[in-house]
Amino acid sequence: MTARIFALCNQKGGVGKSTTTFHLARAAVLQGRRVLVVDLDPQGNLTSVAAREAVEEDQAGLADALSTRAPEGIADVIVPGLWDGLDVVPTSGVTLGSVRDELVIAGAGREGRLVEALSKVADNYDLILIDCAPSLDQLTINGLTAAHGVVVVTHSKLWSANGLAQLLATIESVRDYYNPKLGVAGIIINQHEEQTVSGRSWLEELRTAAEGRGLRVLDPLIPKRVVIADATEAARGLDEWGSAEATALGEIYAKHLSSIEESAA
Ligand code: ADP
Ligand code: MG
Repeated sequence: MTARIFALCNQKGGVGKSTTTFHLARAAVLQGRRVLVVDLDPQGNLTSVAAREAVEEDQAGLADALSTRAPEGIADVIVPGLWDGLDVVPTSGVTLGSVRDELVIAGAGREGRLVEALSKVADNYDLILIDCAPSLDQLTINGLTAAHGVVVVTHSKLWSANGLAQLLATIESVRDYYNPKLGVAGIIINQHEEQTVSGRSWLEELRTAAEGRGLRVLDPLIPKRVVIADATEAARGLDEWGSAEATALGEIYAKHLSSIEESAA
């Protein structure tokens, strides 16, 4: 079977897209799945934690697989991930930014470069997770065009109804023009502060906005916990951390993974 592909998106930075991609990938690997993560953010945060060995600045990466100027195919740039069963399409900074600029002026078909590249390796995986950049630019459009489902990652307090509307409008355009199969697999609320009154009231607002549009907020919410940041930074799965708290948090990601995959079944 060919891989199911999900893009983790939010045009805001710092909401937890990369962190969530990392822990969802871990959950899938633990289930014995073959997983590929794609680092579509020129900042390369996911690459720095998910690749088994440090990726050098001048090493071939996603940019080379997307640019018409580079000879590499995607299979040539994939590197082993931290865990058996995980591979990474790495990003080493500057170059992906220049491909984004190339895509701005490229003509027809520019939105399909990633899906075309992934089609060459999709049979080797069960699951492909695309960690999008904090923007709605051509790189993100490529991510959405390649995906079966979008996972929206957000803070409970940051997401104005307006921000949600903007992302959903982009998803709809991509669905209309480039990728009719695209759906929203779910909304993951990250760094939730359940003990604060403002956390709770923002959450209600967000749930109402989402559900009014027929979208699902995935339960349970992911709380704000230092161990999530620490484990990610240390390139460790939550199950590998060794505390009961971390293990329980890891199980939330496993649950979200199942919900997301069900949505695209
Ligand atoms: P994005 O990819 O959307 O820019 P990141 O995944 O890089 O966001 O997360 C931003 C910061 O928040 C990072 O420092 C990360 O460690 C931290 N973080 C993410 N999720 C959580 C969480 N649930 N609890 C605590 N810290 C988190
Ligand atoms: Mg990120």
